[in-house]
Amino acid sequence: MEKITSLEQFQAVKGAGKDFVAITDKNLPKNCVHKTSCFEVKEYHFIQKVLTNGGKNGDYFFTDDYQKAINVFAKMKACQKCLG
Ligand SMILES: [Zn+2]
Repeated sequence: MEKITSLEQFQAVKGAGKDFVAITDKNLPKNCVHKTSCFEVKEYHFIQKVLTNGGKNGDYFFTDDYQKAINVFAKMKACQKCLG
């Protein structure tokens, strides 16, 4: 699993359109891991959370196995829209 820290990295991951993105947020009761192609994986949200807020409330992680993200993060669930 790899933390996504730059817009270039986010765009490369999103553009490749494969594998998964796990989004953590300490203020939400539930966090979700998505296919990179999911409409909920948005550049605007990435910019706000990671670049503007400096990852204070959460981060983005790229992974080839979404179960890995579910195992690592306590509140992580598979997105019902793209993985349900
Ligand atoms: Zn999704």
